[in-house]
Amino acid sequence: MKIICIGRNYINHVQELKNDIPEKPVLFLKPATALLTQNADFYYPNFTQDLHYECEIVLRICKNGKAIQEKFASTYYDAISVGIDFTARDLQNYQKSKGLPWEIAKSFDNSAVVGRWKPISENEKNNPIQFNLKLNNHIVQQGNTQDMIHSFDKIIQYASQFFSLQVGDILFTGTPAGVGAIKIGDCLVGSIVDEELLRFYVK
Ligand code: MG
Repeated sequence: MKIICIGRNYINHVQELKNDIPEKPVLFLKPATALLTQNADFYYPNFTQDLHYECEIVLRICKNGKAIQEKFASTYYDAISVGIDFTARDLQNYQKSKGLPWEIAKSFDNSAVVGRWKPISENEKNNPIQFNLKLNNHIVQQGNTQDMIHSFDKIIQYASQFFSLQVGDILFTGTPAGVGAIKIGDCLVGSIVDEELLRFYVK
Protein backbone atom coordinates (compact mmCIF):
# COMPACT_ATOMS: atom_id res chain seq x y z
CA MET A 1 0.00 0.00 0.00
CA LYS A 2 1.24 3.45 -0.84
CA ILE A 3 0.07 7.01 -0.63
CA ILE A 4 0.34 9.20 -3.72
CA CYS A 5 0.18 12.95 -3.14
CA ILE A 6 -0.14 15.92 -5.41
CA GLY A 7 1.38 19.26 -4.49
CA ARG A 8 0.50 22.76 -5.71
CA ASN A 9 -2.99 21.88 -6.96
CA TYR A 10 -4.86 24.99 -5.74
CA ILE A 11 -3.71 28.36 -7.05
CA ASN A 12 -4.36 30.21 -3.79
CA HIS A 13 -2.08 27.76 -1.93
CA VAL A 14 0.63 27.94 -4.62
CA GLN A 15 0.59 31.71 -4.18
CA GLU A 16 0.70 31.65 -0.38
CA LEU A 17 3.93 29.60 -0.53
CA LYS A 18 5.27 31.77 -3.38
CA ASN A 19 5.73 28.77 -5.67
CA ASP A 20 5.31 28.72 -9.45
CA ILE A 21 2.06 27.36 -10.86
CA PRO A 22 3.09 23.97 -12.28
CA GLU A 23 2.36 22.92 -15.87
CA LYS A 24 2.16 19.27 -14.81
CA PRO A 25 0.97 17.75 -11.54
CA VAL A 26 3.67 17.70 -8.84
CA LEU A 27 3.75 14.20 -7.34
CA PHE A 28 5.36 12.66 -4.31
CA LEU A 29 4.83 9.47 -2.31
CA LYS A 30 4.39 8.54 1.31
CA PRO A 31 4.98 4.97 2.52
CA ALA A 32 2.44 2.81 4.38
CA THR A 33 4.14 3.77 7.67
CA ALA A 34 2.97 7.36 7.12
CA LEU A 35 -0.69 6.44 7.52
CA LEU A 36 -2.56 7.46 10.69
CA THR A 37 -6.25 6.57 10.92
CA GLN A 38 -9.16 6.09 13.33
CA ASN A 39 -8.74 9.52 14.90
CA ALA A 40 -5.60 8.37 16.72
CA ASP A 41 -3.50 10.97 18.53
CA PHE A 42 -0.68 12.53 16.52
CA TYR A 43 2.61 12.94 18.37
CA TYR A 44 4.58 16.04 17.43
CA PRO A 45 7.91 14.82 16.01
CA ASN A 46 11.15 16.11 17.52
CA PHE A 47 12.92 16.81 14.21
CA THR A 48 10.88 19.90 13.30
CA GLN A 49 9.96 23.22 14.88
CA ASP A 50 7.49 24.21 12.16
CA LEU A 51 5.01 21.45 11.46
CA HIS A 52 2.17 22.50 9.13
CA TYR A 53 -1.24 20.96 8.47
CA GLU A 54 -2.46 20.71 4.87
CA CYS A 55 -6.09 19.60 4.66
CA GLU A 56 -6.91 17.69 1.48
CA ILE A 57 -9.59 15.53 -0.11
CA VAL A 58 -8.31 11.96 -0.27
CA LEU A 59 -9.44 9.16 -2.57
CA ARG A 60 -9.47 5.42 -1.87
CA ILE A 61 -8.22 3.39 -4.84
CA CYS A 62 -10.45 0.36 -5.48
CA LYS A 63 -8.94 -1.24 -8.58
CA ASN A 64 -5.47 -2.12 -9.83
CA GLY A 65 -4.34 -0.20 -12.89
CA LYS A 66 -1.48 1.23 -14.89
CA ALA A 67 -1.42 3.98 -17.52
CA ILE A 68 -5.11 4.67 -16.92
CA GLN A 69 -6.91 6.82 -19.47
CA GLU A 70 -8.57 9.93 -18.08
CA LYS A 71 -12.01 8.83 -19.31
CA PHE A 72 -11.83 5.65 -17.18
CA ALA A 73 -10.10 7.22 -14.17
CA SER A 74 -13.22 7.78 -12.09
CA THR A 75 -13.82 4.01 -11.88
CA TYR A 76 -10.57 3.58 -9.93
CA TYR A 77 -11.78 5.14 -6.66
CA ASP A 78 -14.85 4.34 -4.63
CA ALA A 79 -14.65 6.48 -1.48
CA ILE A 80 -13.43 9.87 -0.34
CA SER A 81 -12.45 11.44 2.94
CA VAL A 82 -10.48 14.34 4.33
CA GLY A 83 -6.84 13.93 5.21
CA ILE A 84 -3.94 15.91 6.57
CA ASP A 85 -0.69 15.99 4.63
CA PHE A 86 1.60 16.93 7.53
CA THR A 87 4.63 18.86 6.37
CA ALA A 88 7.75 19.82 8.31
CA ARG A 89 7.96 23.20 6.60
CA ASP A 90 11.38 24.06 8.02
CA LEU A 91 12.90 20.83 6.69
CA GLN A 92 11.06 21.17 3.39
CA ASN A 93 12.31 24.71 2.84
CA TYR A 94 15.87 23.63 3.63
CA GLN A 95 15.68 20.64 1.24
CA LYS A 96 14.16 22.81 -1.50
CA SER A 97 16.85 25.47 -1.07
CA LYS A 98 19.51 22.79 -1.64
CA GLY A 99 17.65 21.16 -4.52
CA LEU A 100 17.32 17.96 -2.47
CA PRO A 101 14.40 15.51 -2.25
CA TRP A 102 11.89 16.48 0.46
CA GLU A 103 10.71 13.05 1.73
CA ILE A 104 12.06 13.68 5.24
CA ALA A 105 9.74 16.69 5.44
CA LYS A 106 6.65 14.99 4.00
CA SER A 107 6.76 11.22 4.30
CA PHE A 108 7.71 10.55 7.92
CA ASP A 109 5.70 8.25 10.22
CA ASN A 110 2.08 9.37 10.74
CA SER A 111 2.42 12.24 8.26
CA ALA A 112 -0.68 11.09 6.31
CA VAL A 113 -3.75 11.35 8.52
CA VAL A 114 -6.91 9.99 6.90
CA GLY A 115 -10.48 10.27 8.17
CA ARG A 116 -13.43 7.94 7.91
CA TRP A 117 -14.20 6.83 4.37
CA LYS A 118 -17.38 8.04 2.72
CA PRO A 119 -18.50 6.00 -0.31
CA ILE A 120 -18.98 8.06 -3.46
CA SER A 121 -21.27 7.17 -6.34
CA GLU A 122 -20.41 7.61 -10.02
CA ASN A 123 -22.89 10.51 -10.25
CA GLU A 124 -21.42 12.34 -7.28
CA LYS A 125 -17.92 12.17 -8.73
CA ASN A 126 -18.66 15.04 -11.10
CA ASN A 127 -19.95 17.36 -8.40
CA PRO A 128 -17.78 19.94 -6.65
CA ILE A 129 -16.87 18.92 -3.11
CA GLN A 130 -16.60 21.52 -0.35
CA PHE A 131 -14.37 20.69 2.58
CA ASN A 132 -12.88 22.44 5.57
CA LEU A 133 -10.49 22.13 8.46
CA LYS A 134 -11.10 23.48 11.93
CA LEU A 135 -8.20 24.10 14.28
CA ASN A 136 -9.36 24.42 17.88
CA ASN A 137 -12.88 25.17 16.64
CA HIS A 138 -11.89 27.90 14.16
CA ILE A 139 -12.10 27.28 10.42
CA VAL A 140 -8.56 27.66 9.03
CA GLN A 141 -8.97 26.08 5.59
CA GLN A 142 -11.92 25.97 3.23
CA GLY A 143 -11.65 24.31 -0.15
CA ASN A 144 -13.77 23.39 -3.12
CA THR A 145 -12.56 20.77 -5.56
CA GLN A 146 -13.80 22.90 -8.45
CA ASP A 147 -10.78 25.13 -7.74
CA MET A 148 -8.25 22.35 -8.34
CA ILE A 149 -5.75 22.95 -11.14
CA HIS A 150 -5.77 19.22 -11.99
CA SER A 151 -8.97 17.17 -11.53
CA PHE A 152 -9.12 13.82 -9.74
CA ASP A 153 -9.30 12.08 -13.13
CA LYS A 154 -6.31 13.99 -14.48
CA ILE A 155 -4.24 13.16 -11.38
CA ILE A 156 -5.10 9.45 -11.71
CA GLN A 157 -4.24 9.48 -15.41
CA TYR A 158 -0.94 11.28 -14.83
CA ALA A 159 0.17 9.41 -11.70
CA SER A 160 -0.64 5.96 -13.09
CA GLN A 161 1.87 6.43 -15.91
CA PHE A 162 4.64 6.29 -13.30
CA PHE A 163 3.14 4.38 -10.38
CA SER A 164 0.80 1.43 -10.84
CA LEU A 165 -2.28 1.91 -8.73
CA GLN A 166 -3.18 -0.93 -6.39
CA VAL A 167 -6.30 -1.61 -4.37
CA GLY A 168 -5.97 0.15 -1.02
CA ASP A 169 -3.66 2.92 -2.25
CA ILE A 170 -4.64 6.42 -1.15
CA LEU A 171 -4.46 9.59 -3.20
CA PHE A 172 -4.05 13.03 -1.59
CA THR A 173 -5.34 15.64 -4.03
CA GLY A 174 -3.77 18.90 -2.83
CA THR A 175 -4.47 21.61 -0.31
CA PRO A 176 -6.16 25.01 -0.64
CA ALA A 177 -4.82 28.16 1.01
CA GLY A 178 -4.67 28.58 4.75
CA VAL A 179 -1.95 26.11 5.75
CA GLY A 180 -0.29 26.82 9.06
CA ALA A 181 1.57 25.55 12.06
CA ILE A 182 0.27 23.27 14.80
CA LYS A 183 1.35 22.86 18.40
CA ILE A 184 0.91 20.28 21.11
CA GLY A 185 -2.64 20.35 22.49
CA ASP A 186 -4.29 21.37 19.23
CA CYS A 187 -7.47 19.68 18.01
CA LEU A 188 -7.96 19.24 14.25
CA VAL A 189 -11.35 18.50 12.72
CA GLY A 190 -11.86 17.84 9.00
CA SER A 191 -15.26 17.82 7.30
CA ILE A 192 -16.83 17.49 3.88
CA VAL A 193 -19.57 20.12 3.83
CA ASP A 194 -21.00 19.64 7.35
CA GLU A 195 -20.12 15.98 7.78
CA GLU A 196 -17.26 15.48 10.21
CA LEU A 197 -14.93 12.73 8.99
CA LEU A 198 -11.76 13.37 10.97
CA ARG A 199 -11.01 14.54 14.52
CA PHE A 200 -7.74 14.11 16.36
CA TYR A 201 -5.42 15.75 18.88
CA VAL A 202 -1.77 16.70 18.75
CA LYS A 203 0.13 15.31 21.74
MG1 MG B 1 -0.21 18.68 0.39
